[in-house]
Amino acid sequence: MSTPPICPRCGQDRLHPYRFKSDGAKFSLCTECDSLWWPETGTDIANALFLDDVVAAKLGEEGNPWTTRVWADVIEPLPADG
Ligand SMILES: [Zn+2]
Repeated sequence: MSTPPICPRCGQDRLHPYRFKSDGAKFSLCTECDSLWWPETGTDIANALFLDDVVAAKLGEEGNPWTTRVWADVIEPLPADG
């Protein structure tokens, strides 16, 4: 297994593989600065998204999606497979 890259935005953590519980869509997440990357975009800082925005869009909401739910309601870490 290759070691995940360090977050290019904050440099404080490695990117973790996560997925949405609703549809299983996978992404890379920095749990320090909540930056998100889809697999197809690579992990350039120019392609970084913000978890809150992606979650809000997926839920059809605007603003902060975390007033009525927590991360574990929406996303989960991919199980380590090796
Ligand atoms: Zn980061």
